[in-house]
Amino acid sequence: MSEKNKTELLKEELFSNTKSAPAKMSEQELEQAFDFCEGYKAFLNSCRTEREAAAFTVAKAIENGYTEFDASCKYSAGDKVYFNNRGKSVILCTFGKKSIENGVKIVASHIDSPRLDLKPNPLYEDCELAYFKTHYYGGIKKYQWTVIPLALHGVIVKKNGESVNVSIGDAPSDPRFVITDLLPHLDRNMSKRTLDTAIPGETLNILIGSLPFKGDETSELVKLNILNILHEKYGIVEDDFRTAELEAVPAIEAYDIGFDRSLIGSYGHDDRVCAYPSVIAAFDAENPEYTTVTVITDKEETGSDGNTGLNSAYLEHFIYDIASCFGANGRDVIRKSECLSADVNAGFDPNFPDVHDRLNAAYLNKGIVVTKYTGHGGKGGTSDASAEFVGKVSRVFNDAGVIWQTGELGKVDEGGGGTVAKYVANLGMDVVDVGVPMLSMHAPFELAAKIDVYMAYKGFKAFLEQK
Ligand code: MN
Ligand code: MN
Repeated sequence: MSEKNKTELLKEELFSNTKSAPAKMSEQELEQAFDFCEGYKAFLNSCRTEREAAAFTVAKAIENGYTEFDASCKYSAGDKVYFNNRGKSVILCTFGKKSIENGVKIVASHIDSPRLDLKPNPLYEDCELAYFKTHYYGGIKKYQWTVIPLALHGVIVKKNGESVNVSIGDAPSDPRFVITDLLPHLDRNMSKRTLDTAIPGETLNILIGSLPFKGDETSELVKLNILNILHEKYGIVEDDFRTAELEAVPAIEAYDIGFDRSLIGSYGHDDRVCAYPSVIAAFDAENPEYTTVTVITDKEETGSDGNTGLNSAYLEHFIYDIASCFGANGRDVIRKSECLSADVNAGFDPNFPDVHDRLNAAYLNKGIVVTKYTGHGGKGGTSDASAEFVGKVSRVFNDAGVIWQTGELGKVDEGGGGTVAKYVANLGMDVVDVGVPMLSMHAPFELAAKIDVYMAYKGFKAFLEQK
């Protein structure tokens, strides 16, 4: 082997190492990354909505020795508690060896994903076909949601107050639902529209049946037949849709993508790709020095408003409550606390290179992305983490062998977006966005790299286990 010349040595010393993660990982760790993702795929397939992800997390927490948080209890180091906020967001907490007055280490991600919610009065019949009307949730490209199989998940609260859980369209023998699209032969006018206007929101109507009820009536027999099936299965009547939350999600399971199986294609990566690693990291970070708080929240995709979103007070109140368990002042705890806002970032897509600054974009297989700021139009609406805090997080990652990169959400004037970071920052603590780079974000079938998913787990665990 020829000796490295002076230029090469100097480059090695001064340049960033931009090699992708596989080149920096041992065979054994690569295997660990792929193994970790088998659990993640199972989670994706069983948790299609925020309610299901919250229920899964609470059940797993109980298996792992967590008890429901009780503000009147006394706790000591190593105790593990959970707080279930209305079945849609969950906080996991492990009390640390250090006094809580040293602050807590928080990892916050979200478990809601873009989808199609049923309207309060969804059911109608047109030309002897039955449909559900929808109002989409979160930022979607509407044309992507036609002609794909859909499943229906959620809850119906009946007149007598009883809740019925609905989950139909994901088991192999279940029927699916679909939104139709126009055939190319007849779309001469439609194809002149922009992608944004080709499929108006009011046409995202889900086809749910076509057989009429066998009876003497002459109108709405298909609708009657559907209601009859639903009445037999769930004991509901049409009025019960008014007091329901039903979500149509892609009925597509998580698949390995690529001959090398390096990627996972699935619905709902954003942001279960951060939520799952954060929950497993919380379970694995036993007996931490600092008290750890892992939040999986709802409503991020619609701006974090609402009592299960992080723009509400539930996290702040939880910290006040755990502080008072130890006779500490909640404000003092918050001031010294630190948070990773765990959320995905847009990976560089060679098919669409123009929207990114290549030098500052995140790339698949280069580890988790530290995003100093999000926002749009001159950093509007972002918390913009300090150099000191980003520096601290980078040291935690480097010391633990976490492979990470930096990222921006697209070119300066291209668009933008936000996360829960600013709501946490507004409480008065340090926070930075850290998460998995992905392709086709917010599509019914999103892509993430297995190595990056594993690095998210490793990074969150290192953050929670800080000395
Ligand atoms: Mn997200
Ligand atoms: Mn999102």
